[in-house]
Amino acid sequence: MPSRRLTKDEAAKADTLLAEVKAMVTDAAGGDPVLLFALRRRLAARLTYWERGNPAKRKKLKAAKHKAQDGRCAICDEPMGVKGSELDRADPVDGYTAENTRLVHHACHRQDQETKGFR
Ligand SMILES: [Zn+2]
Repeated sequence: MPSRRLTKDEAAKADTLLAEVKAMVTDAAGGDPVLLFALRRRLAARLTYWERGNPAKRKKLKAAKHKAQDGRCAICDEPMGVKGSELDRADPVDGYTAENTRLVHHACHRQDQETKGFR
């Protein structure tokens, strides 16, 4: 896994960016707390899509992986429904692509993540 932690300087840079974005969003809301809430929500969702792809794209990928794996979990090889299954990225940096993911049971995914020392 080439995923890594930010250095102290990189984290400071990210914090500076966040402070700038917060100031911009607060300004854009113009003192309206409901608009501020809605703007924050939209930005949070869009940032998540930037990293993970949008839900429609992931849903399509899950269906394709389910078919490609004959409806079986890539970890335990037991049958699995699309609903409740999860995409597991080999390398988080490479995102949710057919080449970089496998479809697994939620429980198998969690156990695998714990084994690898995540979470
Ligand atoms: Zn499984």
